[in-house]
Amino acid sequence: MSSKPPHILESSIEYLKGVGPVKADMLKKEMAIFTFRDLVMSFPFRYVDKTKFHKIREITPESDTVQLRGVLRRLEVLGEGRKKRLVGRLRDDSGAMELVWFRGITWVERDLQVGSEYIVFGRVNAFNKSVNIAHPEMELVTAENTQKASTFAPVYPSTEKLNSKGLDAKGRQRIIKTLFEKLSAQDFPENLPEYIVKKLRFPSHYEAIRGIHFPTSQEELDAARKRLKFEELFFLQIRLLQIKGHRKDAVKGYPFSKIGDYFHTFFNTKLPFELTGAQKRVLREIRKDLGSGVQMNRLLQGDVGSGKTMVGLMCMLMALDNGFQACMMAPTAILAQQHYISIQEYVKGLEISVAFLAGSVKGKKRKFLLEELAAGNIDILIGTHALIEDPVVFKNLGLAITDEQHRFGVKQRSKLWKKNSPFPPHVLVMTATPIPRTLAMTLYGDLDVSVIDELPPGRKQVTTVHKNENHRIQVFGFIKNEIAKGRQAYIVYPLIEESATLDLKNLEEGYEAVSREFPMPEYNISIVHGRMKAADKDYEMQRFVKGETQIMVATTVIEVGVNVPNASVMVIENTERFGLSQLHQLRGRVGRGAEQSFCILMSSFKLSKEGRERINTMVRTNNGFEISEADLRLRGPGAMEGTQQSGILNFRIADLAKDNKILEVAREIAIRILEDDPNLEKVHHATLKYYLDNHTKKIKGWSRIS
Ligand code: ADP
Ligand code: MG
Repeated sequence: MSSKPPHILESSIEYLKGVGPVKADMLKKEMAIFTFRDLVMSFPFRYVDKTKFHKIREITPESDTVQLRGVLRRLEVLGEGRKKRLVGRLRDDSGAMELVWFRGITWVERDLQVGSEYIVFGRVNAFNKSVNIAHPEMELVTAENTQKASTFAPVYPSTEKLNSKGLDAKGRQRIIKTLFEKLSAQDFPENLPEYIVKKLRFPSHYEAIRGIHFPTSQEELDAARKRLKFEELFFLQIRLLQIKGHRKDAVKGYPFSKIGDYFHTFFNTKLPFELTGAQKRVLREIRKDLGSGVQMNRLLQGDVGSGKTMVGLMCMLMALDNGFQACMMAPTAILAQQHYISIQEYVKGLEISVAFLAGSVKGKKRKFLLEELAAGNIDILIGTHALIEDPVVFKNLGLAITDEQHRFGVKQRSKLWKKNSPFPPHVLVMTATPIPRTLAMTLYGDLDVSVIDELPPGRKQVTTVHKNENHRIQVFGFIKNEIAKGRQAYIVYPLIEESATLDLKNLEEGYEAVSREFPMPEYNISIVHGRMKAADKDYEMQRFVKGETQIMVATTVIEVGVNVPNASVMVIENTERFGLSQLHQLRGRVGRGAEQSFCILMSSFKLSKEGRERINTMVRTNNGFEISEADLRLRGPGAMEGTQQSGILNFRIADLAKDNKILEVAREIAIRILEDDPNLEKVHHATLKYYLDNHTKKIKGWSRIS
């Protein structure tokens, strides 16, 4: 069999006319453009509209780039030395404005003709109340350019280095144009089934690719964009769903066939409250997974305080009922300890052996615990990542729960899978960091997701306010009032790794100020931060939990999971330094009891636009999903917690913050196609399959590593 010569699009980029080895090297290093295809598939990120002319009178300090047509009226060199500049005056039938050059003055001056008509293009600068354009593009009006079709000029991502090598906006436009002269529709065969293209009224693949680089109208550009965004999201969904499908075929799990005594007795005699509707629904979803004979791999999302721990516990009881052990891993010792205490409390009298393992459990105690675990005498093990260390061996682990899963690394999570054989344990990962739907569908497209979208009854919404230094006395007074009513308060300082020393000073100074304001013996204060020894942290924590201290001064170590229902005030210092999801977590520490709770966001006077927006978001809403949507809008998907390790989110053109409608359609169609044809073997899916196999990123299933 003779093999076909490679397609022109697979040619190495240096062979493109006008590129050559030096520029090619830059394109490879700076932009990961290796082939003609890579160049074609690297899309403009914005366009400059050259289809219309602006009037000088319409220009305001807010105008961005403008295209003008007018007569150059004056041209003179002003100023001396570093202030030397060339100033021109452009006039159209609506008014006049200034053009200015700081560099290449002699050359520009020689080139321009006063009294002639120009097409002028550039970005508007505003200062004081006047505007000008610096270093505009100037083109003499000729018979030719008044006739040629004006366009949207594409602007491609670039870097300093590329600019310096002649691959600035114009250079890049030039090479892509050169390339397209060699290409035709045959080089871009359709990659979506025809019935989808028809149904969604898309342009062809070729038209879309052409349209994204060389749009001639806004409509053409919009259609091209929509189709290419769809392609990107659709192919990813197909892949994720295929992985999910294969996993269900491949990974067997222990069927938990029965609900037995542990569960029933607990449910009937121990459960201290009525489960919420959402908790019940989620338990049913999990129950179905556990009984199916396929390994469960489920993400449980639920806002802070929605009652995930109870759901986790009841799942563990199902494991016990079927003769298995279960474990729950939490990201901090404080949180693990708290789970241990509350779960022990819940199951008291049920003859369930619950044990705790963290770095602090050492020596004989640890040795004994590990022996008991291996012998099957421990039913439920709760702990930190100490759980996944190699010497920790279970007799038969049937269910592994990870709390606050985003806090763990990929490797740590994957180790849980290996804690049992021949089948891996069922896996439930819980998170209180709500993830916007679009992100969840992408990041966890291959994972089953349950959502607790309802809080236990009787919860009062936390009241949130924004204050600054001027209100300090008032804030302290407010805390005193709450303490007088028998409540407790948190005061939290930021602690960010890079500036840990500075932050610690911050915290210590804060602690001193608080101590002066709230003197002993009337008040007692706990302090907890990440640099303390585990035992000291624990001691301080416990004092607060027991109500021996009224104020907890802390860093974000208390962010996750800590549960003190009597605490009703959360003061956050330097709020502008926290991310939205962190703020939401922190606020979730209060409002856990019957009392009205308060969150006071302290900040400096000067705030960045984004900082202000984050604070406003917190004041406006308590809804975790709304907050995460805002976070996604403000920071983009790549910056969201828990997404950093995933290359999945590096899109060419799709934008998860904006393209949720397209994503929903793409996912729905992908699901329907795979239901009908799981391996894409049918004739009408041949083009799709070919494109997927040859031209899309290979991705690793997220779930494999969860
Ligand atoms: P999270 O989802 O943030 O982990 P927790 O599991 O810590 O929430 O639950 C928060 C509080 O709500 C706990 O004190 C828990 O006992 C209580 N709780 C959980 N479910 C219910 C319910 N159905 N009714 C009343 N209180 C509940
Ligand atoms: Mg929790």
